[in-house]
Amino acid sequence: MAVTKRLRVDMIACDGHGVCAELFPERIQLDDWGFPIIDDAPIPERLLKDARRAVTLCPALALQLVDDTRR
Ligand code: SF4
Repeated sequence: MAVTKRLRVDMIACDGHGVCAELFPERIQLDDWGFPIIDDAPIPERLLKDARRAVTLCPALALQLVDDTRR
């Protein structure tokens, strides 16, 4: 069984570049100050590639994909 993933952001590391919201608007929006608001619902397989790209390209390395441990 595949492990589902969720997005997490480290708000201390985040610089508010906003790149993540451009790369993955399906789950990331920006607040009025340019910081991300993450929809942490499980990410379906079809969106994982885009989610991984946003994680990789975050300039502050503040985004993570974590295993879903909720039931
Ligand atoms: S790309 Fe990274 S540093 Fe920029 S707003 Fe998103 S999480 Fe923060």
